[in-house]
Amino acid sequence: MNRGYADLEDSYLFHRIGQKVAAFEAEHPDAHLCRMGIGDVSLPLCDAVIKALHAAVDEQASKASFHGYMPECGADFLREAIARHYVSRGIGLEPDEIFVSSGASDDLGSILDIFERGIEVQIMEPAYPAYVDANVMDGNKVIARESGKENGFLPMPDNALPANLIYICSPANPTGATYGRQQLESWVEYAIANDAIIIFDAAYEAFIEDESIPHSIYEVPGARECAIEICSLSKTAGFTGTRCGYTVVPKQLERDGMGLNAMWVRNRTTRTNGVSYITQRAAAAVFTPEGQAQVKANIDVYKGNAAVLMEALDKLDIWYTGGRNAPYIWLECPDGMGSWEFFDFLLERANIVGTPGVGFGPCGEGYFRFSSFGSPEDTRLAASRLLDLLG
Ligand code: PLP
Repeated sequence: MNRGYADLEDSYLFHRIGQKVAAFEAEHPDAHLCRMGIGDVSLPLCDAVIKALHAAVDEQASKASFHGYMPECGADFLREAIARHYVSRGIGLEPDEIFVSSGASDDLGSILDIFERGIEVQIMEPAYPAYVDANVMDGNKVIARESGKENGFLPMPDNALPANLIYICSPANPTGATYGRQQLESWVEYAIANDAIIIFDAAYEAFIEDESIPHSIYEVPGARECAIEICSLSKTAGFTGTRCGYTVVPKQLERDGMGLNAMWVRNRTTRTNGVSYITQRAAAAVFTPEGQAQVKANIDVYKGNAAVLMEALDKLDIWYTGGRNAPYIWLECPDGMGSWEFFDFLLERANIVGTPGVGFGPCGEGYFRFSSFGSPEDTRLAASRLLDLLG
């Protein structure tokens, strides 16, 4: 058996939240809860994507246009569309450096197939829980890079620490913190000096609005020699239920005389039969000018929500990070409250549901996550209840 599974810690966070909310609702059936903990999108797919989905379904209905198995690494039309999208940002990538996936989660764990087991992996804490779990399952040694208010929840390289792999998420879940260009340059320098590989999770890049913040690790010189980038259409384009993402493995990426791009081709052609034609047509629609304008309009709604919450926190003089370039706001619990204490306090006194920061690792204790993926109505209501309760 894989003993790594025995080393996994139980994940109580969302289960415990669910239990507490259910108990509250049973006691207060008429209360209107503002759900600010939601990590899923709430707006539907945009029109360009829906049209592409319908057209692709119709193609599957006729012998002349039917598609069976798709290429394992992705359809040329989608790989080319994504490559053009990178070029529009000044990053030259070949289509065969881009691998279409069923979403970022799949590849964040599967990518470990091409690395040795038992390696040393740096993971920023607080972290998206899948990074730690995937590595524990693989028997890797997780080195938690703890962070806090003093470094804006953005740990920086430490030459005293070993690393074979480094997971970086920017904009980050749960903190919403984003690394600036110089900070990413330091990580790339460190990775190259230590022969380490960066797994750059760019799931929230579409939320970046400050020009100084890179959307892609490949905006940093040297990154092609040390980084794999994992992207998702889930939060960018509302594909959480439709499932599509992409992973970039540059051809320059080599270790121990082996090319990681060729290894990943071999992995994909063995372990998957690709993403459905219908889904890939829908994904390609995201990269058309029409699709880009429409997904931006949806993201702007979430950004409007974040602005409403940030305004309330500013008025209350509560410290937070994220919100501006990310869909998450990570705030310090007021009056020295613990994460769960604040959760109960908000639920009972303001009927607001958020996510306790300690659920993302011990250094999240005393912090709390709000998400901007809810409805504008509920977000405005939550902001006014926060002002009433804490003002
Ligand atoms: N990476 C981060 C940081 C996330 O927060 C999420 C989902 O919440 C994912 C990856 C997963 O994305 P996907 O839906 O593409 O699997």
